[in-house]
Amino acid sequence: MGIKVAKFGGSSVADALQIEKIKNIIEKDGSIKYVVVSAPGKRFSDDSKITDLLYLCKTHIEHKIPYEQIFQVIVDRFTAVGVALRTDVNLKQEFDVIRENMEQGASADYIASRGEYLNAKLIAAYIGYDFVDAASIVRFSDKGRFMEESTNTAIQHELSKHENAVIPGFYGAKMDGTVRTFSRGGSDITGALVARAMGADVYENWTDVSGFLMADPRIVKDPKPISTISYKELRELSYMGASVLHEDAIYPARIANIPINIRNTNKPEDPGTMITAEPDKCDSRIISGIAGSKNFTVIAISKNGLSGERGFIRKLAGILEDNDIAIEHLPSGIDTLSVVIENQALGGKLDDITEEIQRQLKPDHVETFDNMALIATVGSGMSARTGVSARLFTALAEAGVNIRMIDQGSSEMNIIVGVENKDFEKAIKAIYDAFVS
Ligand code: ASP
Repeated sequence: MGIKVAKFGGSSVADALQIEKIKNIIEKDGSIKYVVVSAPGKRFSDDSKITDLLYLCKTHIEHKIPYEQIFQVIVDRFTAVGVALRTDVNLKQEFDVIRENMEQGASADYIASRGEYLNAKLIAAYIGYDFVDAASIVRFSDKGRFMEESTNTAIQHELSKHENAVIPGFYGAKMDGTVRTFSRGGSDITGALVARAMGADVYENWTDVSGFLMADPRIVKDPKPISTISYKELRELSYMGASVLHEDAIYPARIANIPINIRNTNKPEDPGTMITAEPDKCDSRIISGIAGSKNFTVIAISKNGLSGERGFIRKLAGILEDNDIAIEHLPSGIDTLSVVIENQALGGKLDDITEEIQRQLKPDHVETFDNMALIATVGSGMSARTGVSARLFTALAEAGVNIRMIDQGSSEMNIIVGVENKDFEKAIKAIYDAFVS
């Protein structure tokens, strides 16, 4: 039988009740050999995540403001879990060490990592697996750069000595033992690294949703779940705003060709979404999903003879680069060129940029429009079919949506349309209805 690596996110390990659920999942399956856990997350919508509280302690210490009250909230939460699960972990001793390190100026990374560390200790004791500290297997260089290959070897070396283990997510350490964390949500990365190193058949990523849906449920009523999706399609969707998984978690699973299965701890019977290297050949769906974001600005430039002019795009790109602004899209016509930029990235520099465009590019006309939403319709099934864009544009026309921009990726795996912010929801509904029935 093959092995699985399972990562349980913050809401899946938020309290004793959730931890009981994960024990049931692990016992029922039998092939989950290695478990990676997050720190306790929110138990209800306005609850606090332990990681946020730990960072808050550090900020208080830095500003010489008493942090004890916040720390006590953390102590109380872990103590309640420890009592409910009846483990023999000596939490008091653990907290004394952490407190002492904090008083002595421990780094934000060390303090933040203690949520995962303590949770993994408790869970390992409760489910009867070994505890393996991530500080000994996830490696960072002296300068703090993550070292993928030496981590891979260290994980293989250490975990081969353990039949089962629980490993805290989110952090690792430099050779001198100094703790370093990944960016927020980084336990997903740890899970993928362990899956790769141990050659898992599947990397299960347990969260509080049953995988990805074909569209945002706040916009489309009861959208269908996505049962399988390729890494590439997922990348397109997450780029446009659909996120469940840390982006950097894809790479280690992808190079080792390990499928990632997004599962719901609260509904373990749901199969969730399977993310695979190649699109599912038996899948007859045309599109895999629709995602989008509001608030983009378009700068539309027209100039007679533009397409024959040398260096036009380079100069335009240079102006944006000088202002440290990334280009989202660059749709063009014969004598027209538009740049699409995220409003937030513009940061109030629109007037300066248009002035610079006037000065350097001497266009006939420049028009700006700051109220645009981008919608990506993604699916590997689109490339092999004719009439897909006709269907999409007809649906939008029938819904009375004016399309301001069209961009089709060269992979023919997505079509991006720009519409006015006010038409965003209407457009997504229309596209969904046209392709999914
Ligand atoms: N606990 C960390 C965070 O809240 C890492 C994680 O949960 O993946 O970002």
